[in-house]
Amino acid sequence: MSRAARATLDLGALRHNFERIRSQAPASRLLAVVKANGYGHGLLRVARALPEADGFGVAHIEEALSLREGGIVQPIVLLQGFTDPAEIDVLARQHIETVVHHPEQVRMLERQPPTPPLGVWLKLDTGMHRLGLGAADADEMHRRLRTCPGVVLRAVLSHLARADEPAHPFTEQQRAEFLRLSESWDLPRSLANSAAVFSARRYHFDWVRPGLALYGISPFAQGLAGELGLRPVMTLRGQVVAVKALRRGEAVGYGGSWRASRDTRLAIVAVGYADGYPRHAPNGTPVLLGGRSCSLVGRVSMDMLAVELPPEVSPRLGEEAVLWGEGLPVEGIARAAGTIPYELVCKLTPRVRLEVIDG
Ligand SMILES: *Cc1c(COP(=O)(O)O)cnc(C)c1O
Repeated sequence: MSRAARATLDLGALRHNFERIRSQAPASRLLAVVKANGYGHGLLRVARALPEADGFGVAHIEEALSLREGGIVQPIVLLQGFTDPAEIDVLARQHIETVVHHPEQVRMLERQPPTPPLGVWLKLDTGMHRLGLGAADADEMHRRLRTCPGVVLRAVLSHLARADEPAHPFTEQQRAEFLRLSESWDLPRSLANSAAVFSARRYHFDWVRPGLALYGISPFAQGLAGELGLRPVMTLRGQVVAVKALRRGEAVGYGGSWRASRDTRLAIVAVGYADGYPRHAPNGTPVLLGGRSCSLVGRVSMDMLAVELPPEVSPRLGEEAVLWGEGLPVEGIARAAGTIPYELVCKLTPRVRLEVIDG
């Protein structure tokens, strides 16, 4: 039997979340964002489980090509666009659409008109200040793309910087800027990430682009997926490899950063930062054992962590603890560890055993 930590991936939950997003934005097409290996859930596994997606969004050209090689036939959009003219024909031949966010990309297309024609999503910067054309360039670049041979303009998009804070006025400012810049263009529009899908209809436009919510995780800085009707896809588990008694005053782990305030018992669980569990998770971070919420104590090591056992919990060796997922939202673990759930699910390491279930 393997000692390795185990992550189950529930494709039934994935499809449930997809349907939930559909019902939230029924008038929009849905570009399922599967960058970063499907947020750690497996690029092709996720894409193949969503045959009804209207398209897939990826960050890197390698991801787009893997989807095509894997037999995915829906539209694929390269969200970061290209940087090298050699990529243009590869994209065109594989029918991969690309974001254009920079004047230099427009020049590359004009110098080397793609064959067959290349689908382009024009990206506007409405305040995120990461990728996108600003007010100074937008109209000119739009006009040049319209008339560039071999370019087919598919949509205009922009990305929201603060949609995870639902009451923040910046999102509304970005929406107004998006409409102002693209006002006279007759193009489908796309603005909403997961948070904006669940914030308000007026952000949905023609295409929504959810990532995190597909995986059953709340995109909001506060709040949990269950409140949005989403179900976690990934559950991370690890085996109990020791149970031990500690006397009051004794410490556990490197640096002795936690000391027992009474005689107590610990379970040592075979999951550590080498599996992708956050090393900075503090004392008190919840771990589920025997269906009970227990507390992480002491520093997380490379291959192990310690959990204080309440009197009524007595795990066997080999019994599994849940680190996040079913019954223990990853949102709470991320908040405890001072990070975001995106980072936790993306960063599972290759030694974690993946198991697909269809619940
Ligand atoms: C990652 C990404 C998304 C999805 O964001 P979520 O917060 O995961 O829903 C949408 N659009 C773009 C451009 C992205 O890079």
